[in-house]
Amino acid sequence: MKKLSNEYIEEVVKACRPFASKGRVVDHIPDLDQSHLSNLGVTIVTLDGETYSAGEDEDHFSLQSISKVIILLMALEDFGKEIVFQKVGMEPTDDLFNSISHLEEYEGRRPYNPLINSGAIATASLIRGSTVDDRFERVLELLRKITENKKIKMNEEVYNAECNNSARNKALTYFMESTGVLSSQETENALELYNRMNSIEINSLSLAKLGCFLSNHGRLIGGKKQLIKPDNIRTVKAIMLTSGMYNESGAYAVNVGFPLKSGVSGSIVGAVPGRMGIGIIGPAINKKGNSCAGGEALRILSSDLELSLLHDR
Ligand code: GLU
Repeated sequence: MKKLSNEYIEEVVKACRPFASKGRVVDHIPDLDQSHLSNLGVTIVTLDGETYSAGEDEDHFSLQSISKVIILLMALEDFGKEIVFQKVGMEPTDDLFNSISHLEEYEGRRPYNPLINSGAIATASLIRGSTVDDRFERVLELLRKITENKKIKMNEEVYNAECNNSARNKALTYFMESTGVLSSQETENALELYNRMNSIEINSLSLAKLGCFLSNHGRLIGGKKQLIKPDNIRTVKAIMLTSGMYNESGAYAVNVGFPLKSGVSGSIVGAVPGRMGIGIIGPAINKKGNSCAGGEALRILSSDLELSLLHDR
């Protein structure tokens, strides 16, 4: 088994950077353009508090779909498993992340799971607060605690772009209103909260800390306080393992083997239970929405460091 060091992460970044040429940078996010294509930043924070990092790990990017992990965590804390999974399923899907096609058919016409767009918008309606501002403030507060980064905030430019590019998400939201998954009072607020959460600005170190928090069962490293119930953390990690990489989650379970969540900004958070959190930014994504170079880095890290949960020990 390889030993973790900054030099080792540097080698992984070097080996994986060329894979970026297989993808493209998403075009609707204003903080990203093709000049970022071959960027790759990888940061690891271990449960004993060590940080290892290399590449463009200073880059800031928007949380995008990784916000779905926070949405699910908060909805579980606020309403519990039973109510959350009445609104949304817990099964993987082979559909694209923003697909509308099976919303008509799946049991109770619920979205398949909370980590696709429809599922996350439905779940966002379960975050408590009297106004969207209150609810979003609670989200920022939790994220700032988890990442120990008081500066975390929304990127206004990205938020405007999300709102201007939200025809598909509006369709999903109103479709779910028509089938009773969302009530007419919930519809607009759920979408608004979802758009704001997608636009939160973050970096690979903060993502690695989020991964570490999940790996550490809902506590900060060295902290005794349980910020999220361990049972809810377990639920979130299980859904990340089965559905966190969109409709490539099966391949990632086989080739990487621990809970992950990606976003179309090319970001990925990984949680290796009991060992480490991983934060990756590699903006060139494939057709399924996953970072090309980032995915390759995860495969190498998992194999070199024996990170798969199914590894024979
Ligand atoms: N913000 C985009 C959307 O809601 C992308 C989310 C993602 O990363 O999958 O469609």
